[in-house]
Amino acid sequence: MTTFHSTRSTTDSLTAKQAIRKGIADDGGLFVSDSLGETHVDLANIASKSYQEIALDVLSALLPDYSADELKACIAEAYGDQWADPAITPLKPLGDDFVLELFNGPTSAFKDVALQILPRFMARTTPAGGETDERIMILTATSGDTGKAALAGFADAPGTGITVFYPEGKVSEVQQLQMTTQTGANVQVAAVKGNFDDAQSAVKRIFGDRDFAAKLASDSHVTLSSANSINVGRLVPQVVYYFSAYAQLLQQQIINTGDEVEFVVPTGNFGDVLAGYYAKLLGLPVKHLIVASDRNNVLFDFLTTGSYNRNRPFFQTISPSMDILISSNLERMLYYFAEKDTRLIAMLMNDLKNYGCYEIPEEMLAKIRRVFGCGWADEDQVREAIADCWKRNRYVIDPHTACGYFVMRQIPADPLTPRVLLSTASPYKFPRVVNEALGFDASGTDFACMDELAAQTGTKAPAALRGLESAPVRFHDVVDIDGMEAFVDRAAQAL
Ligand SMILES: *Cc1c(COP(=O)(O)O)cnc(C)c1O
Repeated sequence: MTTFHSTRSTTDSLTAKQAIRKGIADDGGLFVSDSLGETHVDLANIASKSYQEIALDVLSALLPDYSADELKACIAEAYGDQWADPAITPLKPLGDDFVLELFNGPTSAFKDVALQILPRFMARTTPAGGETDERIMILTATSGDTGKAALAGFADAPGTGITVFYPEGKVSEVQQLQMTTQTGANVQVAAVKGNFDDAQSAVKRIFGDRDFAAKLASDSHVTLSSANSINVGRLVPQVVYYFSAYAQLLQQQIINTGDEVEFVVPTGNFGDVLAGYYAKLLGLPVKHLIVASDRNNVLFDFLTTGSYNRNRPFFQTISPSMDILISSNLERMLYYFAEKDTRLIAMLMNDLKNYGCYEIPEEMLAKIRRVFGCGWADEDQVREAIADCWKRNRYVIDPHTACGYFVMRQIPADPLTPRVLLSTASPYKFPRVVNEALGFDASGTDFACMDELAAQTGTKAPAALRGLESAPVRFHDVVDIDGMEAFVDRAAQAL
């Protein structure tokens, strides 16, 4: 049986279900499995398989203690008609390259791919015997996309509840409405007086407060958990769409089985691109994975020098979901490239905590660079990329995808290796920035911007986004940082 342990030690050994329920290891490390790559996903008939069938093959290899019936049920619930495209992640031509749309889910951002299925995984992790009245409460601070995708995934999911905090006045009109109009009996949302970092730090403190955890357990039978992208249950669903992209290239007769493909991935916390590396370890012919960053280019510096340094200014950009200085999932990649040396990883992460920086051995960097390329775009380049992509391809991209587009355009294409750009959000989530970049009117509300974008480009806003203008607002709470814990307590009692 495949087991998981921390990237920083091998003392505890957990099943996939236990690792998903627990989220993060006690020593602060991330759960990894040493058997990753021992078995390959069979590519023989992949071109004729549906997304759901490919998902079953991939997830069976990664989460072996879930039965095939359990996985089938999770997949059917997560990848059903809440997706606007039956291919779930359709692949489309983009000039000589391709774009893989990851944003056709209920909240129009790629986080839906993982957060639609994580609650279904979670619901099937109840300890052996099954008789427990313990419920899990997901607690998240969000700067935008994650909160809504988590709310949509966990709303009315059995055995769970979810509480989301967002910084008051620091998210866009659309993002705020996406959260405050969320339906579901097990859902709570509050604005916090402070910025995202304040809210995030407070959430971490609440997670670390043992007395509070004991109180929640005894008063409400509630255990806190995180929907953060370090949870292995959020990572593995993302491996599926790399295989799906490959299957679609085969179907469209762009490649033959065994041909190599390159992926360009807009990157923040390193979850999306790491899933591409997992796909490679599972046998997918991936030549390179190109890490595309925004102006917060800490990963570009790391991948070019081997030195990771978070001691640098933080920039709030027009691609907010990539504004990250600590890319948590990088730790898993380092583990595999360090030949599974948990002591080295523990040391590096200790340096990161104490000094804000670390450096990896030269040979290790050389090996990483054989797989991972990198690039980044500043905000002007992001705007130019949105305009260039529209002009050349009549295809509208959002500011996150535009970072990837800019980086891809800078790398000379190899005619023998198809390139796939991962598109992580609908342009309609960021209609003001997109209109500005394309020279369209951006003077009205976000909804006026959506209508203008639709009229100018002949595309259509996702109904769930456009409908927010008239959706009833359910949540009006605004809490102080110090009031967050009490809010969580009330939410737990109400579960
Ligand atoms: C979260 C997010 C990203 C970054 O993905 P990571 O897995 O954190 O690297 C990129 N684009 C959008 C729109 C996102 O929501």
